[in-house]
Amino acid sequence: MKETNGQHIISLFEQWAPKSLAVEGDPVGLQIGTLNKTITKVLVTLDVNLKTVEEAIVNGCELIIAHHPPIFRGLKNMRTDLPQGMLIEKLIKHDIAVYAAHTNLDIAAGGVNDLLATALQLENINILEQTSSEQLMKLAVFTPKQSTELVRTALAIAGAGQIGDYMDCSFTSEGEGRFKPSGLATPFIGQANELAVVEEDKIEVVFPISMKSKVLKALLTSHPYEEPAYDLILLNEKGLGRIGTLMQSQTLADYAELVKKQLNVPFVRVVGNLTKEVKKVAVLGGDGNKYIQTAKRAGADVFVTGDLYFHVAQDAEAIGLAVIDPGHHVEQIMKIGVAEYMTKVCMQHKLAVEFIPSNISTEPFQLI
Ligand SMILES: [Zn+2]
Repeated sequence: MKETNGQHIISLFEQWAPKSLAVEGDPVGLQIGTLNKTITKVLVTLDVNLKTVEEAIVNGCELIIAHHPPIFRGLKNMRTDLPQGMLIEKLIKHDIAVYAAHTNLDIAAGGVNDLLATALQLENINILEQTSSEQLMKLAVFTPKQSTELVRTALAIAGAGQIGDYMDCSFTSEGEGRFKPSGLATPFIGQANELAVVEEDKIEVVFPISMKSKVLKALLTSHPYEEPAYDLILLNEKGLGRIGTLMQSQTLADYAELVKKQLNVPFVRVVGNLTKEVKKVAVLGGDGNKYIQTAKRAGADVFVTGDLYFHVAQDAEAIGLAVIDPGHHVEQIMKIGVAEYMTKVCMQHKLAVEFIPSNISTEPFQLI
């Protein structure tokens, strides 16, 4: 096991939940302190408040990974006589950095919404609302060495390989191709009925699905082979919320009980006919008020989400969508989820760092 720093830990974390996944304007990333220091312990928490900071201090954590960014709206001042300033002062005095992973962790495969969907016993899980602007495809094509540059250039000119602000991105690896042309073929390399072994390159590029025919045309016109070998792969969609099915349908009342138990909450609020059978379930951690229609359109019988407003509940009732609101705090599922994932990844990299899921409940509501 070797000593590590914040940069290394976060680069591993961002391979899982890259900041680019976050919805526009979401202040994800390092918010307080620096990652340029040795890290031995990381506290994973839903929220950063005085109690969780105290927990980080007691446990000797140099870094906090939080789901909710402690600086969400722009700071207007840093007054240490007010709660937010006091919190930041305490963190800085104890040299504790805070890294926020919010909607990028909601969207990431295996992130908050997948953790919730699994806890809610969903199967055949899909994305509820796609957030990436367009679905991407990946082309992998095999070329004889002497034609690699020509094909790569043709693909780039056709517009393949644009990732964010970077153009002409591709990956090339070397290998050996084997083929035996039939008597009917007119091979670019080799003889009919003889096995040819050719040094080949594999070129991989990514492009939006709308460019598929243009990219394939560029490939087929630039490639020297009569029948080039290539693979087209539809890349996974990224998005908020999940939808899936229960193994067996059950009444809304029974499913509400299961939600309570699985998410470990003392109560849930339920909209809809309690005797109605539910099988298709949508879930969105946090505040899902904006996604009532999306869940209905996706065919959900019931939508599990938090912070439901009175009028949104009435709208859901009117369109015949049942809703179970277990509260916003159920996103705490990320504490163990992130700690387990990062422990595994850092073990693989032999890094001497411990991830501690916070024991503090940041639920502000009490039931009396
Ligand atoms: Zn939240």
